[in-house]
Amino acid sequence: MRPYELIKAKRDGKRLSPEDIRAFIDAYTAGTVPDYQMAALCMAVFFQGMDAVELGAWARAMLQSGEVVDLSDTPGVKVDKHSTGGVGDKVSVSLAPLAAACGVPVPMISGRGLGHTGGTVDKLLSIPGFKMDVPVPEYRRLVREVGCCLISQTEAIAPADKKLYALRDVTATVDCIPLIASSIMSKKLAEGIDALVLDVKVGSGAFMKKVEDARTLARTMIGIGAEMGRKVTALLTDMNQPLGRAVGNALEIIEAVEMLHGRAPADYTEVTMALTAEMLVLGGKASSIAQARQMLEKVIADGSAVRKLKEIVQSQGGDPRAIDDYTRLPQARATVDVVQAPRDGFVTVIDTEAVGLAAVALGAGRQRVDSIIDPAVGFTLLRKEGEPVKAGEPVVRVHYNDPAPLEDVKARLARAYQFGPQAPAPRPLVIERLE
Ligand code: URA
Repeated sequence: MRPYELIKAKRDGKRLSPEDIRAFIDAYTAGTVPDYQMAALCMAVFFQGMDAVELGAWARAMLQSGEVVDLSDTPGVKVDKHSTGGVGDKVSVSLAPLAAACGVPVPMISGRGLGHTGGTVDKLLSIPGFKMDVPVPEYRRLVREVGCCLISQTEAIAPADKKLYALRDVTATVDCIPLIASSIMSKKLAEGIDALVLDVKVGSGAFMKKVEDARTLARTMIGIGAEMGRKVTALLTDMNQPLGRAVGNALEIIEAVEMLHGRAPADYTEVTMALTAEMLVLGGKASSIAQARQMLEKVIADGSAVRKLKEIVQSQGGDPRAIDDYTRLPQARATVDVVQAPRDGFVTVIDTEAVGLAAVALGAGRQRVDSIIDPAVGFTLLRKEGEPVKAGEPVVRVHYNDPAPLEDVKARLARAYQFGPQAPAPRPLVIERLE
């Protein structure tokens, strides 16, 4: 296998054989193909795509780059959810305890922030002590005993994706259907699930800006799942504005806990309920979405969902007191309210990718593979799309530690917001369901 020749072949639009794909990914995982050659191949795939045979080979090679976990010692249908990535998307943090509190075992491998999107790993690691690099035997025990374990990619499970994910993040090769589909499905199939719910985000803050592309991505992932014998359901959900009001790691943990108390913004609550209800049906705990939603309402109202989150936090070394007392989470030293509405009216548009990039500029995400993120910083959206504003009223609160990037962040946010005399027509949060 000669990396140079394979990169050139793909660049020129030729098809790669399954053996060549396997060899390239194995060599990259082992470190004999360097990052720059993998980055070049990903860029060639970005422009030339992959056909179904290539995609199957790529996904399988990533899946088999590490251990494929066997969770058969945990009774029940193991179900996970994965999002294609958005801004303010803290769904996993509330969905996992909700599903587990209803009796669905949830094994979940999450990712770090990617491009302008936030990552569940970065959010959860803002809880003091919380560990996500859980060894596989411990992960299996926690899924069995606690009903949920949330881990980051280890060297053991889908290590090819772990490396590739970080590389794509900084080489502008994220928003590419075959690379996203194989990334998600390889790690999800390696974690030991029986079924999967996909949250395929569409809109200005998603990698897929158009419904047709999101649908293609969903179908591609459902196809990979079917080929490997797993039930996969996908919801296309709106990402034309950040989900909820919090953007930034510790801020999003607070909003997620608030959701489990029934006190979170309506859009975030609805998307979480819709996805978790699908998990309950796939997991055989509810016979319909309506019944699933009633079960979810109940575990919120009786406090068992919050208790399950605390149990998960404690079982993974975190401080469960931070779930009751938010001052135990990282706190920014200062806040400033920015982006004044120019006149009375409404917020009409929020360029959500721009908000995500502003969060990265503030330090909530990474600009380089080895950037250190600041878990405390981020935004509270004081006004969202369709909400009324008075002239001069600020629409975003910035929570910051380092003032150096503030001017840039303010300018980015100002460009992200648009105002007008009329509220835009409301959009559905769940656009489509595929299975
Ligand atoms: N989420 C993933 O896990 N991988 C991608 O490539 C994009 C979103």
